[in-house]
Amino acid sequence: MQRRRRLGERLRGGGEALGGGGILHGTGLGAGTGMTTAKTTALLIRDVALVDVVRGRVDGPRSVVIEDGVTRGIVAQAPAWSGPSLDGSGRYLAPGLIDAHVHCFLNASGTPRLDYLAASDEELLAVGRHNLGVAIRAGITTVRDVGAPAALMTQLQGEVAAGQVVGPHVVSSGASLCRPRGHGHFFGGEVASPAELRARIEQQIAGGAQWVKLMASGGGLTPGTLPHRAELSVAMMQAAREVAHANGIKVTAHCHATAAIERVVEAGLDMIEHASFLDPQGRTRVDIDVACRVRDSGIAVCPTVYGGFLTAQHFRQVGEAANPDDPTAIERLEARVTNVGPLHRLGVSIVGGTDCGATHTPFDTLLDEITAFTTQGLSTVEALRTVTSDGAEKLGLSRRGRVAAGYEADLVLLAADPLADLEALRRPLMVLKAGEIVHEAGERTYPQPPP
Ligand SMILES: [Zn+2]
Repeated sequence: MQRRRRLGERLRGGGEALGGGGILHGTGLGAGTGMTTAKTTALLIRDVALVDVVRGRVDGPRSVVIEDGVTRGIVAQAPAWSGPSLDGSGRYLAPGLIDAHVHCFLNASGTPRLDYLAASDEELLAVGRHNLGVAIRAGITTVRDVGAPAALMTQLQGEVAAGQVVGPHVVSSGASLCRPRGHGHFFGGEVASPAELRARIEQQIAGGAQWVKLMASGGGLTPGTLPHRAELSVAMMQAAREVAHANGIKVTAHCHATAAIERVVEAGLDMIEHASFLDPQGRTRVDIDVACRVRDSGIAVCPTVYGGFLTAQHFRQVGEAANPDDPTAIERLEARVTNVGPLHRLGVSIVGGTDCGATHTPFDTLLDEITAFTTQGLSTVEALRTVTSDGAEKLGLSRRGRVAAGYEADLVLLAADPLADLEALRRPLMVLKAGEIVHEAGERTYPQPPP
């Protein structure tokens, strides 16, 4: 209630954080009107330029009617309106961003696995709450977590859904599933047989998981695993696909080894994380034939290039990688960005995700991720689509990622046109999630609710 009241006071005060005359009008947002829930919000944004990521152009100015968390209508002339409204003139309204690869409970330090292992559940929850706050202030309105302790994730998701924690929508994969002692086993997702894997997926779906994440090769954070070696059989992956698809959810797989990518194609999974294309010697080499099969199978790739770059930078500074069995870590991590060029040219669908939470990768690096894509041949709008319309589609979030009638009102209000320069997304003037204003520029430390 305390947070609700403070929001109401601030909004009635005229939104001075937005500069000058204040662009917020109306009285409907007064204390007690339920700003923490989407169900009771209604908002009119007048005369704002609309960023159409699908067509790659800016329309408007138009007025946007938001009700019940959804963009209801986009009209040339603002309707008669007695509720709260924003003056959007001279400003741009774009979709909130979607980070497809995050780890809520890793702290983005130099030693995220060790810090995770040393932390209590309460400390891990504090890390998660902090990370989500960083993301929402960066205009990220949806994250997909691809590796977390399942029970804590359920709790954190519940806190976000209840409005106790200010953060993006969290799409969860629960614990990433791996062979015994496989990559990321510390999240609690070890499985030894297809039957165990099926049971575990059923259990996680019952607990609220909306994706399945498999660890199909070794990884840089887990000593005892080899990134250039495939770690799950095709039979295991097929079992995962069958039970997930039967429940209407999709499967993604962490793949550094090219051999693991080939198995994903054979097993008919939906998405690949990293796609490092490591040969059996651990060298990075995009296998064009395998990449074409990925494309032809409609499998999207989330290359996580910027997190890789930051992690490599850290390994160079400290003189060693986190996994002693990973001698080509730096080369692999730095090659992620240059892998994007051939994948994009071949027509592979790219989805933007950062691997934030992992080594030195905080939760506000998604813009850097897509900016890196533009160095590899993606246009500005193509890069932006990987974290809006295209990203939403590939993640199965059919009503997110666009400023359009009928879509969820996950939106960012910007001072400049992001299609002209992606940097316009760096500091949104305002972030709306499901129609609720959850962040305004200048509010450096957003009010957190009392515990
Ligand atoms: Zn990851």
